[in-house]
Amino acid sequence: MKILIVGSGGREHALAWKAAQSPLASEVLVAPGNAGTAREPKIRNCPVAATDIAALIDLARRERVDLTIVGPEAPLVAGIVDRFTEEGLACLGPTAAAARLEGSKSFAKAFLARHGIPTARHETFSDQAAAARYLKDHPGAHVVKADGLASGKGVVVAEDEATALAAATAMLNGEFGEAGRRIVIEERLIGVEASFIVLACGLDYVAFPTSEDHKRRDDGDRGPNTGGMGAFSPASAVDAALEIVIRREIIEPTLRGLKADGHHYCGFLYAGLMLTADGPRVLEYNCRFGDPETQPIMMRLRSDLVALTQAAVHGRLGGETLEIDPRPALCVVLAAPGYPADPRTGDMIAGLDAADPQTKVFHAGTRELDGQVLSSGGRVLGVTSLGATLEEAREHVYRRLGTIALDGALYRHDIGRRPYGVKP
Ligand code: AMP
Repeated sequence: MKILIVGSGGREHALAWKAAQSPLASEVLVAPGNAGTAREPKIRNCPVAATDIAALIDLARRERVDLTIVGPEAPLVAGIVDRFTEEGLACLGPTAAAARLEGSKSFAKAFLARHGIPTARHETFSDQAAAARYLKDHPGAHVVKADGLASGKGVVVAEDEATALAAATAMLNGEFGEAGRRIVIEERLIGVEASFIVLACGLDYVAFPTSEDHKRRDDGDRGPNTGGMGAFSPASAVDAALEIVIRREIIEPTLRGLKADGHHYCGFLYAGLMLTADGPRVLEYNCRFGDPETQPIMMRLRSDLVALTQAAVHGRLGGETLEIDPRPALCVVLAAPGYPADPRTGDMIAGLDAADPQTKVFHAGTRELDGQVLSSGGRVLGVTSLGATLEEAREHVYRRLGTIALDGALYRHDIGRRPYGVKP
């Protein structure tokens, strides 16, 4: 089979790397890919933007692609699956209508409420005065969220009314463009976060191992929210009993809710959870794999990703049990200076070729120029390792990070080391 992976981040490098290991895959194309995917055996980059759906359809036709797997949210929300399906091309992911679970936080909150799935109390606003009144009437910590897609950056956890009001005002005044014309203000939940990702088709699903993301840029869970600075798997706080609760109270009601609302959801579904003293609560849905959670999860996945995704897209999912490496895996993201607000790009990266069998360096914002690898985005690399223990995986990763040189690069030093200091 020829597989096409849409996207260019660390997630797509990890998905392509895993897909290429399948005996079912003759070749894996990545559109547009990065310098890391360009260097992998059996993988070929194709210079087509992840959002150019018409050009992706042309590519899939021309190359006789058997299955397309979409990495990022933007093409899903824009309807790539609907368009591929109309053309008779197999494409894994939700339709645009179902992808609104991620594309609109207010849509997701209404969905959660409608189907009785536990989440934080919230209100939706498009008017500044109303938002200000709400914050005055509800003292305490809040989380202010831009309604639309903002690459994981449109969320402000505010300790006090003034900070929440400033965030709400900035968003409603266009800080995130159209994405923030409407905002959600919700109660701040206390607990440990975990990511629960499944591959679903209708009511059938298989669950990937749990993982834990680190959204804040700086050590001690400080600094701005980012797309993710590191992740590890399994999550620290999810045992077998809690996993059953998450499946029964969150994943299964979500799939039933989607069906009841008339959606046929076939693709990855990600529930970002806060594990509170009162049980798990949904913070957000993503309609695709998480980045960087994909990297440690793909390191641990022993099952054939192509066989799984093929089964899902053809409605034959059911009964599969995933084979998972029992060892934990951990990924630390190396970001460009200035990330997330204003990352500097175009710098040379050295030390990528060192042979280290323990560790996989997944590329994200990188490109190749005259045989050199240059930074080309905010998150540049995701250094990922398996270890007999999480601590051992950490040691492999940080040792490898020490051999990579990118001027001004930043990364967190405390990934996988809870507690992370003062919680947001
Ligand atoms: P989201 O994109 O909605 O998942 O938000 C990004 C991050 O903001 C989450 O991973 C949490 O760290 C934090 N966050 C979001 N909603 C809440 C909440 N209600 N309470 C506490 N933290 C939150």
